[in-house]
Amino acid sequence: MSEPTLLGAAEIRALATSLNATPTKKLGQNFVIDPNTVRRIVHQAHLSSSDVVVEIGPGLGSLTLALLPEVAHVVAVEIDPVLANQLPVTISKHASALAKNLTVINADAMRIETLPMSPTHLVANLPYNVSVPVVLHFLESFPSIKEFLVMVQAEVADRMAAGPGSKIYGVPSVKMAWYGKVDKAGAVGRNVFWPAPNVDSGLVRMVRHESTYDPKIRVLTFSIVDAAFGQRRKTLRTALGSILGAPPEIEAILRAAGVDPGARGEQLGLAEFVAIAQAAKKVM
Ligand code: SAM
Repeated sequence: MSEPTLLGAAEIRALATSLNATPTKKLGQNFVIDPNTVRRIVHQAHLSSSDVVVEIGPGLGSLTLALLPEVAHVVAVEIDPVLANQLPVTISKHASALAKNLTVINADAMRIETLPMSPTHLVANLPYNVSVPVVLHFLESFPSIKEFLVMVQAEVADRMAAGPGSKIYGVPSVKMAWYGKVDKAGAVGRNVFWPAPNVDSGLVRMVRHESTYDPKIRVLTFSIVDAAFGQRRKTLRTALGSILGAPPEIEAILRAAGVDPGARGEQLGLAEFVAIAQAAKKVM
C-alpha cells in the first residue's frame, strides 16, 4: 500500500483552525508538524504488520497517520472530545483504506482499564504533564505490551533511562526497571512542534522483560521507592520512616535485606528495593 501523505505545518494549522481548536498547555497539546519526526518515531518503534499499537494522545493525527500503514490496528486514546471526533475523519480523508484499522477512544488514558484488543506496542508523543504515570499505568494494566517507544520531555527521557548513582536517577528509573530495559532513542528539537514547547524532547524505548520478581511485591516495592526518593538526601533509615515504622525496625528490615541503613535511595538498584520490600513483608 502506498504511504499516505503525512501532515505538515500547514495541514495541522488548517485543521486546528477548522475545528476552532486552540492548543492548551493543560493537556500538553504540542502537535508534531514535521513528517520526518513521525517517520523516525515509527521506524524506531520496531513494528511489524501483525502488531496492535495503542497510541496515547493522537491529537490531530500526525503520528496515527504514519502508524496505520505499518501495523494491523491502532487504538488511539484521546482525552479531548473535539480531537477524538475529528481523528477518524482525518484518517478517512488521508488514508481511506486504513480507516477500518483505527479505533478511537475518547477518554482520559489514566482511567483506561480495558481496551477492545490487546496491544503489543505503545507508541506515542505523550502529553508531557502525565508522561511517566500514564506509561506506568499502561505497562501495569496491559501485560501484552511488549515494547514501547514514546516521545517525552528530554529530562524525563534521561530520568526514565538512568541507572543508580546518578543525580537524575529517581522514581521513574526504578519503576520502569521493574517492567523492562529502558534506552534513550534520540533527541528531538523544539521546532518540530506547533506550538513549540519550552523544553527539548527525547525518544525512549522500553523492551519488557519477564519479571523475576513476585508481582505481589510490586505495590510495596513502589511505595518504598516513593518514600526513599521523597526525601532523597536523607538516609534510608530516616526516609523510610513513613512506611516502615520506627528506626530500630527499619534498621532490622534493611539489614535483613542486605542494605546499609546509612545508604540513600539513589544508590540502590531495583533488586535492593525489592529485597527491602520482601524483608518488610515478613515483619509486617
Ligand atoms: N500525537 C499528537 C502529535 O504528535 O501531534 C499529539 C501529541 S500532544 C503532545 C498530546 C496529546 O495528548 C494531545 O492531543 C492531548 O489532548 C492528549 N492528552 C492529554 N492528556 C491526555 C490524557 N490524560 N489522556 C489521553 N490523551 C491526553
